[in-house]
Amino acid sequence: MSMELFEQEVRYVQRVGGRRAEALASSGVHTTRDLLQYYPRRYLDRSSMTPVRDLTEDMASATVVGTVRVAGTASGRTGSRFELIVEDESGGRMKCVWFRGTQWIQRRFSKGDRVAFHGKPQRFGGMYSMSHPDFDKLDGDGPALDTGRIIALYPGGAALARVGLQSRAFRRIIYTLIKEHGREIPDVLPAWVRERADVIGGPLALRAIHLPKSRAELERARRRLKFEELFFIQLMLAFLHERWTARPGPTFDAPGDRVRAFVDDVLPFDLTGAQEATLRDIVSDTRSGKQMNRLVQGDVGSGKTVVAVAAMLQALDSGYQSAFMAPTEILAEQHYANLTEYLDPLGVEVRLLTSNCSKSEREEILAELAAGQAQVAVGTHALIQEGVAFERLGLAVIDEQHRFGVAQRAKMLDMGDQPHMLLMTATPIPRSLAMTAYGDLDVSVMDEMPAGRRPIRTALRYEKQREDVYAFIRGELEKGRQAYVVYPLVEESDKVDLKDAESGYEALKQVFAPHAVDLVHGRMSGDEKDSAMRRFHEGATRVLVATTVIEVGVDVSNATIMLIEHAERFGLSQLHQLRGRVGRGSEQSYCILMAGYRRTEEARERLKAMVETNDGFEISEIDLKLRGAGDFFGTKQSGLPDLKIADLLEDGDLLAQAREIAFELVRRDADLQEPEHEVLRAYFDRFYADQSLGFARVG
Ligand code: ADP
Ligand code: MG
Repeated sequence: MSMELFEQEVRYVQRVGGRRAEALASSGVHTTRDLLQYYPRRYLDRSSMTPVRDLTEDMASATVVGTVRVAGTASGRTGSRFELIVEDESGGRMKCVWFRGTQWIQRRFSKGDRVAFHGKPQRFGGMYSMSHPDFDKLDGDGPALDTGRIIALYPGGAALARVGLQSRAFRRIIYTLIKEHGREIPDVLPAWVRERADVIGGPLALRAIHLPKSRAELERARRRLKFEELFFIQLMLAFLHERWTARPGPTFDAPGDRVRAFVDDVLPFDLTGAQEATLRDIVSDTRSGKQMNRLVQGDVGSGKTVVAVAAMLQALDSGYQSAFMAPTEILAEQHYANLTEYLDPLGVEVRLLTSNCSKSEREEILAELAAGQAQVAVGTHALIQEGVAFERLGLAVIDEQHRFGVAQRAKMLDMGDQPHMLLMTATPIPRSLAMTAYGDLDVSVMDEMPAGRRPIRTALRYEKQREDVYAFIRGELEKGRQAYVVYPLVEESDKVDLKDAESGYEALKQVFAPHAVDLVHGRMSGDEKDSAMRRFHEGATRVLVATTVIEVGVDVSNATIMLIEHAERFGLSQLHQLRGRVGRGSEQSYCILMAGYRRTEEARERLKAMVETNDGFEISEIDLKLRGAGDFFGTKQSGLPDLKIADLLEDGDLLAQAREIAFELVRRDADLQEPEHEVLRAYFDRFYADQSLGFARVG
């Protein structure tokens, strides 16, 4: 079956035409397929309506259908507002109020209109009211409702309303489209996929999502369309995964003498189960003959670096060099210091290559890498610049991979003999998101902390406790420890926030004297920042006042206090990342959250989560719930198509199933040549392949 109907421009659909097509285009609807996938945002039937007398204040939302009795503007302390009094069938009355956009809204309503209002009911002065409710005018829909039908309500807006595209018009357009052309709608999922996923047919689902005959049918339609949406995203990822992992890569030997010496003799501790499992994944990838593209996801301190070192030694035992790339100079230097400590005893030659190197240093290092004398190179993006060539590069490790652009990673992938790629991230994300955000990579999760680590103690404090907090910090400083004090900085150019940090710094110099206090912020030059960080690292400075520039990776094991000012203004993941700057040594560490009294409900939840758990994966789950998937890790940002019906958080099981089946499909028929995959291929080629190529996520 052809894709003709799906591809057809929407203006040729009956009752649409040029003007409406223009308005639809602004909502992302260009083709008939887009129109069919312009899913209702809500449904209305007798069972979903609440009579005014049954409203309660603990309802998160309710739908009330009634007739407008009074409409007018009123003015109060806060300016003018628009109010409606609505009466439902049983005579119950409710108020609806708009404080903004009153000009526009008042033109929408006249006395006698029949309208469905959707919002949170609140009780004021003996009457229920909704402020800024969603609404759908039901002129002409009344009879349909009375016959017990389920009515689809569509996302609207001023542009659509101007050309008469309200819910009722959508329903008519789609009804006619399906009546006239329903038989031309292809089922884009092959029969075996439908069976395995236990979902209904596509054409039926599209009809039922717009014109449901029953709640049960609607549910089946939603399930099918959610699955389909997730399936095609996973199919894109499966093809990309195939593309990365089908490339030949160096074949390593099984871990040899140096790996053994490192694990048994150099490391003063045993590997955690998660470290061992991750190493097994790496060994199996690097021995497969194909290029490895593996992401290691693990909280700060879970021991990712140790795993990377073992992998580099396996490369070395197999006769290959390794590169280790970090996002900043200071992190590269820190890694260099750690790596030398681990690798010196094993006689491995490690070099540090950053833009701080002098010309002659750089030339010498490049020569050693090219000749194979230096076996491990640590550095910043300086590692992938012109003129850097390894004799035999077998493994590239990228720390904090999310800080690198696609192009930089792509460059690494293509260096020399297509080295294995080991990507590391200390930003744990929930499984359901990882399946999409990192869906083209193989992922190892390090969800186990080394034993004997003292959990960081986190406390929430308020302004009136400030003196106590300072006294506590002074006590720690007396014991020889160091402290971070962090101020929020929403934007690097935010002057107000910077002033906050600067005046905080001036005050703290007095408070903590004679202990040295220093300031580092995003508007300082790279050199200034580096030297401030370095002084703190060396212990010359005892208290470091900072904006969030210290977020990533800096490791000062003597720092045991993290004081976060205006903690309510930070995101949850960011708070957790900041907390990860302490707790890196053997002493007890503390994270103190200073919060203002004015907090939103969400901010309260964030702070509560911080106090209650140290587990990054748990934190990320909570963060996802608070912020919603789109915001948390926009599929936009990752280059994947937007989700129209599925929800990564709610539909995790369906997502896992879609992924499994999509990957199986690519394993079975990578070119989609089988006759039973013909429709699927036509559909994928037409609607996903371009995006899939544009989605140049390279590990
Ligand atoms: P990450 O890079 O994941 O933040 P690191 O590899 O830097 O973590 O390790 C953090 C600290 O934990 C280091 O001091 C390291 O020596 C130590 N460490 C790593 N693995 C273990 C382990 N299995 N047992 C005890 N300590 C460990
Ligand atoms: Mg690290």
